[in-house]
Amino acid sequence: MSPGTPPDRAAVPRFDLPEPDAFTRPYWDAAGEGRLLIRRCAACGRAHHYPREFCPYCWSEDVEWEPASGDATLYTWSVVHRNDLPPFGSRVPYVAAVVDLAEGPRMMTEVVECEPAALRVGMGLTVTFRGAEEVEGVEAVPVFRPLRLTGSETPGGAGKSPGAGFRPGNGLSAFAACGRVAPGP
Ligand SMILES: [Zn+2]
Repeated sequence: MSPGTPPDRAAVPRFDLPEPDAFTRPYWDAAGEGRLLIRRCAACGRAHHYPREFCPYCWSEDVEWEPASGDATLYTWSVVHRNDLPPFGSRVPYVAAVVDLAEGPRMMTEVVECEPAALRVGMGLTVTFRGAEEVEGVEAVPVFRPLRLTGSETPGGAGKSPGAGFRPGNGLSAFAACGRVAPGP
């Protein structure tokens, strides 16, 4: 490399990017469009994740892609303070998590836009996507953020006001309220 040449992005190792193949290509293409896909078995009706070419419950190969709602609840998590594999070092601390998708499958992911102290088992989450905004041409990766208490997303239906002090659009401080997101009655 000659002096002044910008670093070649392809030469910088990254350990956070998927390597799609022919089978997983639909999944990553959908993620790039902001949609989360799961696989559902036509033989036994169960959904699974990560994507497999056969049903992990009954071994049927009659399995198809299906759009997921993107709704999930937090099952467990760990706050990562050190990771030497690029680019994770630039993201610490981050929240590695396991979430239960509304459709049933349990998924390893990351929770974003929430202070770790506000995380609660069972809290409502919704999918969002990381990646496309960082480097053009790389796959977007599904991550999850707290379910925001807007009018259309208020748990329990209409007529309930968000928690006092919650101000949508107020950046991270708004998510001090995220631990109070609870299922409706
Ligand atoms: Zn099955």
